[in-house]
Amino acid sequence: MNKLKAYLQSFLLWELLKGLALTGRHLFARKITIQYPDEKTPMSPRFRGLHALRRYPNGEERCIACKLCEAVCPALAITIESEQRPDGTRRTTRYDIDLFKCIYCGFCEESCPVDSIVETRLFEYHFEDRGENIIHKDQLLALGDKYEAQLAADRASDAAYR
Ligand code: SF4
Ligand code: SF4
Repeated sequence: MNKLKAYLQSFLLWELLKGLALTGRHLFARKITIQYPDEKTPMSPRFRGLHALRRYPNGEERCIACKLCEAVCPALAITIESEQRPDGTRRTTRYDIDLFKCIYCGFCEESCPVDSIVETRLFEYHFEDRGENIIHKDQLLALGDKYEAQLAADRASDAAYR
């Protein structure tokens, strides 16, 4: 009986028809793939991309050179040097992140008491020359200035969920 069934299935191209039916079902189903980079998937406000250093609205940099981020970084990717200003406050003179070492864990962001070092939504970046993997303080501040509106909005929406 089984042999007859197998013979009939083979004769009627049953496996082929089953395969075509499966293809047909997916042909008209809702697509779950997107046409990147023209289309983008939704992104969480907690996405951990390229870093940035933020400023206060008056333009003063937030970072107080406490070095908590440097201490907590599991990849030893952050290098900070600091000095005291004439007014007694302390600020970094050097803030480097080695993006080859960074594992984008977000610990630096979590540890910062003044919301200074943050991770942006940027993930489409590349390096062309040796050494460009080290991102410096001026570049980090420029990124913070450029994306401040998005950074502030993301932090506000994230706080609402906590
Ligand atoms: S995201 Fe993690 S690995 Fe990268 S610099 Fe921050 S603490 Fe270090
Ligand atoms: S970025 Fe934040 S944690 Fe890191 S040194 Fe500056 S104030 Fe401290």
